[in-house]
Amino acid sequence: MRTVPGATDRVVVIGAGLAGLATALRLRGAGREVTVVERGPGPGGRAGVLERDGYVLDTGPSVFTAPELVADTLAAVGERLEDRLELVPLETTYRAQFADGSHLDVHADVDAFAAGVEALAGPAEAAALRRYLADLAELYRLQLRTFIDRNLDTPLDLLGPELWALARRGGFGRLSSHVARFFDDDRLRRLFSFQALYAGVSPFRAIAAYAVIAQLDIGAGVWHPVGGIGAVPRAMAAAAADAGVVFRYGATVEQLDVRGRRVTGVCLEGGERLPADAVVVTTDVPERLVPGFSRRRPTYSPSCVTLHLGVRDELPGQAHHTISFGAAWQQVFDELTRDGRPMSDPSLLVSMPSRTDRSLAPDGGQVLSVVAPAPNLDPHSGGNPHIDWDALTPRYREEVLGTLEARGWTGLSDAIEVEHVDTPLTWARQGMAAGTPFALAHTFGQTGPFRTPTLPRRGPENVVLAGSSVQPGVGVPMVVISGRLAAERITGPVR
Ligand SMILES: Cc1cc2nc3c(=O)[nH]c(=O)nc-3n(C[C@H](O)[C@H](O)[C@H](O)COP(=O)(O)OP(=O)(O)OC[C@H]3O[C@@H](n4cnc5c(N)ncnc54)[C@H](O)[C@@H]3O)c2cc1C
Repeated sequence: MRTVPGATDRVVVIGAGLAGLATALRLRGAGREVTVVERGPGPGGRAGVLERDGYVLDTGPSVFTAPELVADTLAAVGERLEDRLELVPLETTYRAQFADGSHLDVHADVDAFAAGVEALAGPAEAAALRRYLADLAELYRLQLRTFIDRNLDTPLDLLGPELWALARRGGFGRLSSHVARFFDDDRLRRLFSFQALYAGVSPFRAIAAYAVIAQLDIGAGVWHPVGGIGAVPRAMAAAAADAGVVFRYGATVEQLDVRGRRVTGVCLEGGERLPADAVVVTTDVPERLVPGFSRRRPTYSPSCVTLHLGVRDELPGQAHHTISFGAAWQQVFDELTRDGRPMSDPSLLVSMPSRTDRSLAPDGGQVLSVVAPAPNLDPHSGGNPHIDWDALTPRYREEVLGTLEARGWTGLSDAIEVEHVDTPLTWARQGMAAGTPFALAHTFGQTGPFRTPTLPRRGPENVVLAGSSVQPGVGVPMVVISGRLAAERITGPVR
């Protein structure tokens, strides 16, 4: 593994999102002097929080998986997760709601899950489920060691028994075909392939190796951090500050101060300069800050429209997380990733964390976040720069609410007290490429050793990258891992 040459005593980390926080904790744990510079008023980045009239709305991630990664990161500074964060394991990981009116509760407990599948689709599918879950766990184990949890400098780094085992298990075939080999029931096929969208690709084009995303949620379970997902970055930032990391909030890095092959500091808006022996950049588009660093035209993930709602209604009977599938399926992915059109028959992720955590909403109320995948703004990524989201949003919002009312969230629209809507234009205005918060898609050519490494070959020798646009990828678990990978480029491997 290549590492940053020369002195690395003082490190500036740009960005206090989950990647920046994970990097800072790792570096501080290895004895570095660390300053985190964040343009926002607090930690979290895309894992943002909005508090209004007693409602606490997470505006970013809603599905929190793999808490052991955060625990391991906190352990780098001698802290225990349970001292900083209260996590509630969800018995029902998701409720899957299908267009034919049926539904299936995905239970963390395999026997309960299999019983639900048997009731829905019969004993053969329940047996297939057990085989599939075992296969997923094995696929994940193989990939964690080869693709995910390590710095990769060249594709040759992959060569080894795990790669062959992955190939033998069909990891490089199509995800949709892989899932179809196990399940006959179309509803189960959807349940185990929609996660490809989390990786920014259609299951009809994704390689089967991405089945492992379902290992993170359906296989290994989902947790709720009490106080909302925003409690996770707050806990990490507090542990980092107590360990001696310096935080500069409300400070925007304007440029890196480059002398020859090295960066010697970062220049903030307003003129202040912070000296540094190494810099970690966790922003969405590192090429805007890092001179000399560039990459071939990336393919970006689809984006989303999100509705965050505080509602004065108990909404009885609804689950913590619901995946509400429309009748359309392949068409949905074509619209999102090829045709650049909003979904005509939407599949939605609806989260109602106040079902588990009453601290998030006033008595008699609930908070909901509704994620509707949408095309991004980049025509080269199947997106559409011509949709005027500002003009379309009121109508689209009505459409989404109407869909939810028709799918069982009766009375929702009239009960809304607090509301916040984000669209691809929101993400674009925050500086995210292609108007998507999900960064580069995990196409084959942007995965593993083909995704930008945490220590790029082009650019200053002491600039390291972390976050969702570099290895290993998008989502809370991946960016937390990227923090470790980035830190190891500076400290060398730590196990
Ligand atoms: C709506 C939505 C739903 C999601 N759902 C899920 C989910 O359910 N599960 C899941 O695992 N993941 C989910 N994700 C993805 C996950 O939130 C992200 O992958 C992850 O939070 C990205 O973290 P990061 O640290 O890489 O980037 P960021 O959080 O964007 O951090 C980068 C930070 O850099 C700061 N910054 C940028 N430029 C500068 C500058 N010049 N100077 C100083 N600071 C700067 C930014 O303000 C930001 O705080 C979701 C994301 C969104 C938006």
